[in-house]
Amino acid sequence: MRKSRILKSIKDRGLKITPQRQLIAEVLEGNKEHPSAEDVYKKVIEIAPTVSIATVYKTLNSLADLGIIQRLDVGDSKAHFDPDTKSHSHFVCIKCRKIFDVYEELSIPEIDNGFKVLKGQAIYHGLCKDCENSQ
Ligand SMILES: [Zn+2]
Ligand SMILES: [Zn+2]
Repeated sequence: MRKSRILKSIKDRGLKITPQRQLIAEVLEGNKEHPSAEDVYKKVIEIAPTVSIATVYKTLNSLADLGIIQRLDVGDSKAHFDPDTKSHSHFVCIKCRKIFDVYEELSIPEIDNGFKVLKGQAIYHGLCKDCENSQ
């Protein structure tokens, strides 16, 4: 089995590698598409047809709660999941709804109330290259 950062993070936290977690890791590892739970489910049942969507939801959310994967809200009322937990921003195409990673450093604004900002991430909305070219 190829090296999985997700499985390693689970192990590093002293947690068990359950078959469900293994499936999610397999589908999500290296995935750049920011799939929703439904998208993950569709891929999971190609490997393990008997797994329920409830199990997929539960496993995704528990991994996100543990900080092993990132849960993302881009304003389409669905949670999306990102195996990349490093701080980064996202660009959402308003036409094809694809979500892209943006790694440019955000300039952290001064917030004038004594809060110390440590990190930030933004969600940008616009048209991706393909959609802009087909306008
Ligand atoms: Zn697009
Ligand atoms: Zn991302």
